[in-house]
Amino acid sequence: RFEGITMAPPDPILGVSEAFKADTHGNKLNLGVGAYRTEELQPYVLDVVKKVEKHMLERGDNKEYLPIEGLAAFNKATAELLFGADNPVIKQQRVATIQGLSGTGSLRVAATLIERYFPGAKVLISSPTWGNHKNIFNDARVPWSEYRYYDPKTVGLDFEGMMSDIKAAPEGSFVLLHGCAHNPTGIDPTPEQWEKIADVIQEKNHIPFFDVAYQGFASGSLDADAASVRLFAARGLELLVAQSYSKNLGLYAERIGAINIVCSSADAATRVKSQLKRIARPMYSNPPVHGARIVANIVGDPALFNEWKAEMEMMAGRIKNVRQKLYDSLSAKDRSGKDWSFILEQIGMFSFTGLSKVQSDNMTDKWHVYMTKDGRISLAGLSLAKCEYLADAIIDSFHN
Ligand code: PMP
Repeated sequence: RFEGITMAPPDPILGVSEAFKADTHGNKLNLGVGAYRTEELQPYVLDVVKKVEKHMLERGDNKEYLPIEGLAAFNKATAELLFGADNPVIKQQRVATIQGLSGTGSLRVAATLIERYFPGAKVLISSPTWGNHKNIFNDARVPWSEYRYYDPKTVGLDFEGMMSDIKAAPEGSFVLLHGCAHNPTGIDPTPEQWEKIADVIQEKNHIPFFDVAYQGFASGSLDADAASVRLFAARGLELLVAQSYSKNLGLYAERIGAINIVCSSADAATRVKSQLKRIARPMYSNPPVHGARIVANIVGDPALFNEWKAEMEMMAGRIKNVRQKLYDSLSAKDRSGKDWSFILEQIGMFSFTGLSKVQSDNMTDKWHVYMTKDGRISLAGLSLAKCEYLADAIIDSFHN
């Protein structure tokens, strides 16, 4: 009976890692998946995480089920990190927060809430966006369409296009926004542009839906990276925010994140939370405890919290250094007069190189540089030592 099942295509992002593993070339470089590596290109477990895990082991924390909504101390900490503890939305208990299976699982639960309570409502997603967004809304049977975001001519934001597409969408649509460090482009709106985006969303009665996968990882500051979300919350808007601790705490495989829904009253938040739990129960019953405890223990202890911030700054700083070095190498080597400054202007883990699919194939086939076919490279997987090699590969591929 399973004979009729056809082969699924490899995932465009995670499939890159599989191909990388199979390559035996000495200079191979994996810039596909967005995971932080050390200068030696090794995976990195934060010291503060190791320290907290040791405490947890010594204390002998048990492995009983969490409630459906997750660990209470985590849910409190995560909403406060996002909005700031003094934010009126927190004080007035207007946020429904449940722990999720990292960013992806949180987005998926929210998508089902949309499907169930806003039948027919459309989600607007940026063009381009993180590849999994479309899968998530497709699986949840939520219709979506794209708004213009990236302008290949300027290698920057197509702000006019974005505004007019959001304006043209049916009233009451959900607008998916990357809170900071847009994936894959690394291009974020300026604070003035965020205000204008909020204006048009408000005018059209749309509902903002933030995906925050890089808080603290873009600028090195948790507060600065939450500015977009806080700007919308300060206008008294209802909104959704999916959070992830994969990148900023390096907890990729622990699957720790949350979905936060800001409602217009505490009463509505209570009802919304009850529905989120109802959605989660048949999907996965209750979330894993380990990552939730790590986050709650770190955020709950001022000394550990400071250690985390310092390590986050260190990671964000290493990526900025690599960005600079790659720009310097490209500018020094390239004889064509091409302006590479877009690399310095982009923020976060990724750089959108503008390499076409054919050129990206050349990167992999000839240079053993693994990357997604949309021209995105993860600078978190690059070392200072490999910048020159990468610059050679990029120049060769561009002029190829
Ligand atoms: N959203 C965006 C934009 C991302 O880049 C990622 C991670 N690549 C995620 C969500 C979710 O990742 P995770 O499920 O590991 O938290």
